[in-house]
Amino acid sequence: MEIIDSHTHWGPSVSLGISVTTGEILRQAEQSGVNRIVIFPFPSQALADETINEELLNEARYVPRFVPYYYIPDDLRPIPPSKGFYGGKWHWTRGISDCSSCYQVLEDPVLPEFLEKSEAVGLPLIIEEELAFTVAFAKRSGKLNLIIPHLGMLGGNPLDFLAAFKKDEHVFFDTALAQPQTLLRFVREVGAERVLFGSDIPFGKMAAELQKILCLPLSDREREAILGGNIRRLTGLVPSSVGNDFKNDNKV
Ligand SMILES: [Zn+2]
Repeated sequence: MEIIDSHTHWGPSVSLGISVTTGEILRQAEQSGVNRIVIFPFPSQALADETINEELLNEARYVPRFVPYYYIPDDLRPIPPSKGFYGGKWHWTRGISDCSSCYQVLEDPVLPEFLEKSEAVGLPLIIEEELAFTVAFAKRSGKLNLIIPHLGMLGGNPLDFLAAFKKDEHVFFDTALAQPQTLLRFVREVGAERVLFGSDIPFGKMAAELQKILCLPLSDREREAILGGNIRRLTGLVPSSVGNDFKNDNKV
């Protein structure tokens, strides 16, 4: 079974004063038996210097295990098509990270065009905002696939997110840092098809986050979906020829 981590932060962070290296992510992947890893820039870095998106894309060219995501800038430019990105990261746009959303963004005249273009690009968007913002955003975003990280934990109560999006087929959830019991409840109520494994390196440890999924009472089909099948379906990734042999394929 191919395992894909759908949520890690790569590169430097201006606000945290740290840098997550390729070597560190691959070390954790090797230790955990994870085959491919979604990477995106830290928000503070992308806002200070958006060339980090290009840097990250270049890194993924050298490291076949990496699946690069584009950080959506505050002026709402969609994921540039055909460059090699597999998704986008939207993070408290113009708001205060993990604290308050900026609701004016919802009335920004460029938002409809952003959403229309994003839907045409057809790649998923990880969106982290308060519940009320996320609900309003999802109402406008049509068939665009949205992934809510941490089961919504940083934007409110996960069970409120669950109630709000239970019937919304275009809304997905990632497992990073979530409580196992809450996670199981999500799988039972929305189905394993809408839940994605993520570690949130450096805030979570890949091995522990993976172990959490492996310990849940799930069927093989459900586990396969959460650990790799769903993210492949959303991003269009084909099953990888990159196996578990770390010796030959990572030139770092
Ligand atoms: Zn994160």
